[in-house]
Amino acid sequence: MRDPVLARRTMVEEQLVSRGIKDQRVLSAFLEVPRHKFVEEYLKYKAYDDYPLSIGYGQTISQPYMVALMTEALAPSPQDKILEIGTGSGYQAAILSRLCSTVYSIERVSTLASRARKTLDELGYFNIHTRIGDGTFGLPQDAPYDGIIVTAGAPHVPEALIGQLKEDGRLVIPVGDQSIQDLKRIIRTKDGIREESLGGCRFVRLIGKNGWQE
Ligand code: SAH
Repeated sequence: MRDPVLARRTMVEEQLVSRGIKDQRVLSAFLEVPRHKFVEEYLKYKAYDDYPLSIGYGQTISQPYMVALMTEALAPSPQDKILEIGTGSGYQAAILSRLCSTVYSIERVSTLASRARKTLDELGYFNIHTRIGDGTFGLPQDAPYDGIIVTAGAPHVPEALIGQLKEDGRLVIPVGDQSIQDLKRIIRTKDGIREESLGGCRFVRLIGKNGWQE
């Protein structure tokens, strides 16, 4: 594998900055977090390339640019409490953990959850709380959140998630059919809900009671 520090610099310049990611804190997090630790041994040489990679169980670690775009849209502040739905490899949670005070991350596949936990512990990212369960209900016991990020594609916005946002809280979620989704940012304001579209994307399915059925 190439020198990971160099590989990260190249990834940030060629995949993120060149496509318009501007938030310096977000770019710094991508320079810091060792993405190659979040994929299996046989894929490490591809860890900094411009596409998603398999993490087993039919799931993927998202393309770096997609992680950056969603993170920038979520706009986490240093004091924020953030919920992620779909821990997967733990990479998105690790990026968030550099940018806010506490991350909660929920995953339905327990083997993935425990593998991610191990990686995050080894890296010393202790402000991330991992949970196993159906994230289409959010995580009510630790709500409300300053931001919620869903890293799987939903057929519709699960109502519970909006209810778990603080005022001015942001929800970033891909919504659409099983092959293509629209990346949405929904902001809970004191007057109601504001919704924006951030473009097309393609995620694995959000499977659960308020998502796709298995
Ligand atoms: N954020 C991850 C990428 C995750 S892929 C990373 O950085 O690696 C999407 C993940 O969402 C998969 O691991 C999948 O098992 C999980 N998932 C799908 N439906 C879910 C649900 N209802 N609750 C929690 N996790 C879910």
